[in-house]
This record gives sequence, C-alpha cells and structure tokens, in this order.
Amino acid sequence: MKILILGGTTEARALAGALAEQGRFAVTLSLAGRTANPLPQPVPVRSGGFGGVEGLAGFLRDEKIDVLVDATHPYAAQISANAANAAARANVPLIALRRAPWAKTEGDHWIEVGSIVGAVKALGSVPRRVFLALGRKEIEPFATAPEHVYLVRSVDPVDPPLAVPHAIYLTARGPFTEADDRALLERHRIDVVVAKNSGGAASYGKIAACRALHLPVILLERPALLEVAAVDTVADVMAWLDHASTSAAVRGV
Ligand code: NAP
Repeated sequence: MKILILGGTTEARALAGALAEQGRFAVTLSLAGRTANPLPQPVPVRSGGFGGVEGLAGFLRDEKIDVLVDATHPYAAQISANAANAAARANVPLIALRRAPWAKTEGDHWIEVGSIVGAVKALGSVPRRVFLALGRKEIEPFATAPEHVYLVRSVDPVDPPLAVPHAIYLTARGPFTEADDRALLERHRIDVVVAKNSGGAASYGKIAACRALHLPVILLERPALLEVAAVDTVADVMAWLDHASTSAAVRGV
C-alpha cells in the first residue's frame, strides 16, 4: 500500500518512523517547506504546496496513493480542508491524526481569543513584555501595538523583523521543556504569553511554566476543521492502517 502523510508535526515524523520500521508500506512524507533546514525524516520526503485541492487530487492519482494521512498541525486548516476535498475527489481513503487540545487545569489563567487580531487587542494598551509563541508568519499584526516589548522564538529568523521598536529574536527548534521555558520567561521578565492550543507534549512547556509563574496565556482558539475520520494518537493511525491493509487485501486491491 502506498501512503502519503501530510506532515510537519512531531506525530507525522513519529508515524513515518514507525511505518518505515515495519517495512510493509511505501510511505512518502509531505512537508509544506516552511523551514530552511527541516529535520531529517525516516522516509522519502516531498516538499512544498501541491497547488490546492486540484493539485493534491492529481498527486494522489498520479502517484497511485492508496491512503492519505493528514497529520498536519491543528492550526493548518487550509491543507486539512484540501486533504478532505482531494481525497473525496480522487476516491482515496483519508485518516486524520488530530492531537487533542490542552485542557485548562487549576492555576491556568487563559484568555481565549478567536484570532491573532483578538490576541493583539487582549494585550491592552499598558506596555507589557510579551512572549509570542507563534509561527513567524503570524506575528505581523503585533506591529499595530508597538508599545509592548516582544520576545519572538522561531526555527528560522524572522525576516523582515517586526516593525516595532522593541523586539528580541531567538532561533531555536523545540521540543522545549517546562524548565527551559520557565527559565526563558524569567530571564526576559515576560508578563504574558501568546500561544496556540497545539496539544501534545512538545510545546506544552510554556503552558506549564506560565501556570507555575502565575502568568496569563492569551490562547488562540483552534480553527474549525471539516469532519473526517480521525484518531488522536500515532498508535491509532497504525491500527487503522493495519485494518485498511487487511481489508484491501481481502478485496484483492
Ligand atoms: P495551511 O494554512 O493549512 O496551508 C497553506 C498551504 O501550504 C496549503 O494550502 C498547501 O499549499 C501548503 N501546505 C501546508 N502543509 C503542507 C504539507 N504538509 N505538504 C504540502 N503542502 C502543504 O498551513 P500552514 O501555512 O503551514 O500553517 C498554518 C498554521 O499551522 C500556522 O499556525 C502554523 O504555525 C501552523 N503549523 C504548521 C506546520 C506545517 O508544517 N505546515 C507546522 C507547525 C505549525 P497548496 O494549497 O499549494 O497545496
């Protein structure tokens, strides 16, 4: 069976590794191509957009893909919508790997907002020291609130820099532990963190660190996604693929 994994996440990489170890499937991992030096992957990689629904459907047909796995980031709503529509168009089974969101626990002070512009507003007008735990392509709206000091951490440098007088840039690649993030927040005397509710362990450190330091988190609500068959762990995708491969063998595919 030929499997295409839409990735860019820790889980997509783990799934590709687990499938490669089994050696039963021909797996290709697709990356958006956002980072200049992506981590090495355990299976062949293709990189860059497909050209919308039509492009992805064409790829599924041309490459004779048997199963499409959408293991993209929960905020990557466009590619997930494209995956659902292209799989339907090319008549290819689709399974989505969707991490459960983090749940608020005692001591968390979360301010949930529906958009980045909402996050900018939630900062208020009194100057604050803000850690932006967002993708470098998402931070531009914060230029409309230049009274704050921003700390920005990204895998690749932010270019062009944010058009504000006070911004500090760090390049680093996760995962980050709670201790790493607590030290970072203390070192930069951060008052508030802006983040996505990504779920999973790799980026939870900052949320736990904020709880320990009694800092508020402005949390971006998750985008609505189309309803498709979905599971929330790598093991569940493996089980689903196992079942799909048996059914395909029974059907003589
Ligand atoms: P998006 O808005 O859903 O996708 C935009 C376009 O990028 C898609 O239409 C597609 O182009 C291309 N694309 C995205 N993922 C792809 C993949 N795995 N393989 C091939 N092409 C892909 O997603 P985004 O712009 O990457 O990010 C949106 C949000 O997700 C941001 O909040 C970002 O920080 C977060 N995020 C994304 C990734 C990632 O690897 N994508 C990782 C971590 C976080 P075509 O229409 O041309 O096919």
